[in-house]
Amino acid sequence: MRSKLVAGNWKMNKTSAEGEALVEQFLDAMNDHVPIDVIVIPPYLSIPRIAEICRRAPVKLGAQDVFWMDEGAFTSRVSAKQLHEFCADYCLVGHSETRGKFGQLEVPETTVGYFAETDETINLKIKKLMFYGIKPILCVGETLAEREAGKTDEVIASQIRGALDGLEAAELYELIVAYEPVWAIGTGVTCDTPEAQRVCSQVRLVLAEVADADVASNARILYGGSVKPGNALELFSQPDIDGGLVGGASLDPKGFADIVRSAIQAGG
Ligand code: PEP
Repeated sequence: MRSKLVAGNWKMNKTSAEGEALVEQFLDAMNDHVPIDVIVIPPYLSIPRIAEICRRAPVKLGAQDVFWMDEGAFTSRVSAKQLHEFCADYCLVGHSETRGKFGQLEVPETTVGYFAETDETINLKIKKLMFYGIKPILCVGETLAEREAGKTDEVIASQIRGALDGLEAAELYELIVAYEPVWAIGTGVTCDTPEAQRVCSQVRLVLAEVADADVASNARILYGGSVKPGNALELFSQPDIDGGLVGGASLDPKGFADIVRSAIQAGG
């Protein structure tokens, strides 16, 4: 039986002090009772301070990205070895804002290359995170143009296959995949619930092909894309949606607590 999970991706928001206050206020709103996995994903610079809180509170620590080399001349990058030093439990990989388009269909040419991930770099990151015992949260999702061209399932399958290439089923047993339609991220537009459930069940089918039936049934599949207190319960009650990856709404401690309560209500 899979347990629910809610992760809050703060993106490039909050100073360390603001982040600390956010977590404290969230814990107050939950009366310090958090019976499911809740992950906070602050910007790198806040990780040391938030890691301190996570050591004594029922929340886990995630990072927003990682580089796949341990050390070297890679200015601005952060390695899994460095995240491990602060006991990061989880790390996002392949978020659409790091896949090169910042969630936009049209971006200035000059910005495309800065974050452009490929399936190959995502695969290298996943392998390195696993080496350090940090659980990857693999983000997949189609753009609006891909959806309109009827390519959603094809895009998702290809992203999963590329990301997990060369990994054994035994290594994927605790896999977390976040289905995040790019057109729903930060836009206020949510994928309608039956469609979100359909794509998440497709993700599970692809995992069964890429790995095996046990990996597929054990994997936690999250939905992400404008999750809010008002839509979380319906989304998280779907059989193949095991919780959410929440961006904007995770910056409000009370709203985030409401979303976590929805996950608990939907089946803990
Ligand atoms: C995200 O950053 O992964 C995300 C889903 O953002 P939002 O909830 O703001 O759409």
